[in-house]
Amino acid sequence: MPQSADRVLDHGPLFREPEYQDLLERKREGFECPASAVDVEAQNEYSKSWEYREKNLAREALVINPAKACQPLGAVFAAAGFEGTLSFVHGSQGCVAYYRSHLARHFKEPASAVSSSMTEDAAVFGGLNNMVDGLANAYSLYDPKMIAVSTTCMAEVIGDDLNAFIGTSKQKGSVPQEFDVPFAHTPAFVGSHVDGYDNMVKGVLEHFWNGKERQPTAKINVIPGFDGFCVGNNRELKRILNLMGVDCTLLQDASDQFDTPSDGEFRMYYGGTKLEDVAAAINAKATVSMQTYCTRRTLDYAAEKGHETASFHYPLGVSATDEMLLKICELTGVMIPDELTLERGRLVDALADSQAYLHGKRYAIFGDPDFVYGTARFLMECGGEPVHCLATNGTKPWAAEMEALFASSPFGADGKVWQGKDLWHLRSLLFTEPVDFLIGSSYGKYLERDTGTPLIRLAFPIFDRHHHHRFPLWGYQGGLRLVTTVLDKIFDKLDADSNVAGKTDISFDLTR
Ligand code: SF4
Repeated sequence: MPQSADRVLDHGPLFREPEYQDLLERKREGFECPASAVDVEAQNEYSKSWEYREKNLAREALVINPAKACQPLGAVFAAAGFEGTLSFVHGSQGCVAYYRSHLARHFKEPASAVSSSMTEDAAVFGGLNNMVDGLANAYSLYDPKMIAVSTTCMAEVIGDDLNAFIGTSKQKGSVPQEFDVPFAHTPAFVGSHVDGYDNMVKGVLEHFWNGKERQPTAKINVIPGFDGFCVGNNRELKRILNLMGVDCTLLQDASDQFDTPSDGEFRMYYGGTKLEDVAAAINAKATVSMQTYCTRRTLDYAAEKGHETASFHYPLGVSATDEMLLKICELTGVMIPDELTLERGRLVDALADSQAYLHGKRYAIFGDPDFVYGTARFLMECGGEPVHCLATNGTKPWAAEMEALFASSPFGADGKVWQGKDLWHLRSLLFTEPVDFLIGSSYGKYLERDTGTPLIRLAFPIFDRHHHHRFPLWGYQGGLRLVTTVLDKIFDKLDADSNVAGKTDISFDLTR
């Protein structure tokens, strides 16, 4: 065999060795009863046609590769943004392994969460005993400051009542009566991870704010929303707000939890919004969200408590950052400092420098509703044309906002919004109405391979490239990173399309 202690091969080259190729071929022929290569090729070609696209878009009873995760994943991410908080998911263990691995593979950091490990008996008799034992174990083994409880499908289908279960667990002594155990029901069969995020943040605020009297201050709260780039974005946001002199509380900040240093000490809990700050945040003048569709219920709750509210759509680029900063100025009475004005000018300069390459490029974008909106807006600002904008977890109001965005600029003339569609739909769209580039998560790499559309990785999850999340996309500085990422792909494609010596190398250029 080709593998030996003296010559250790990575799995890529190993499985390309003749022995493995032969073995895989015999397995295919012997066990998989494959259709003929001719038939497979014919079906593959048919799946690229307009006729297939119409059938595909009419599909109702099946979802293939949805660009979303389930609610509890968003709740686990949300809980990671609070000081000393352990996520406790009431339900089955395998689901929680999925959230942990999804977050760990994206951030390249351990992602802690426990489950109440419900099995068949709990599904029949209810999961109260699992909650009582689970909370006691989690409290004594992992020494958290707070345990944030959410639910998987299983607990929701049988109708377990978290409020009652947590109350009973406290009575039975699983955790002290005064110990903080906020909770959120996060039924995974409706909505997506952005709703789970919303429900969990609201659950935490309700835990600390319900029954409290607000003593108004001039401070504001800022909620970042579910964001795979939280490490870079939240730090950039704090830097900007600090430069502006804004007195604020970042409500839910996972930037440190998902970026712990390697210095010999394992930090199960690191950073996050301090619990006393969460409690005091009821007194804020206003609550501002960086992502509208991640925080609809939370903002409604803040408004009920008397806060002014405002929300944005994942602010990327010049005009979206302007809008965000001006709103914060309006709410707080601060002025925009010269340093930020300089940064703005530098971003405008960079966009102007690269205008010839950015202008007229056509894009497909997929991801969460706010991300898709923010990215489309930024591309239009650069003279790019968003053509296919797809959010599996997009809603009708989101689709209407996207249409209004397209209508606001000539660059939106060909824009189409695909609400509730999945990545198999997007494959049909890319074959029948091709674009120059695809923007989304790592899952787009299969579309890139199938359709030849180069993928720009800017959305959660990014598994197959490292460290992107450490750099911000928000703000003027983030805009520089964003435009550089897009341009790198544009130039890579230009080089690849013009690299045949003596034939296509007229534009194989060292100076751009
Ligand atoms: S959809 Fe339901 S079963 Fe699947 S991971 Fe989410 S909670 Fe678990």
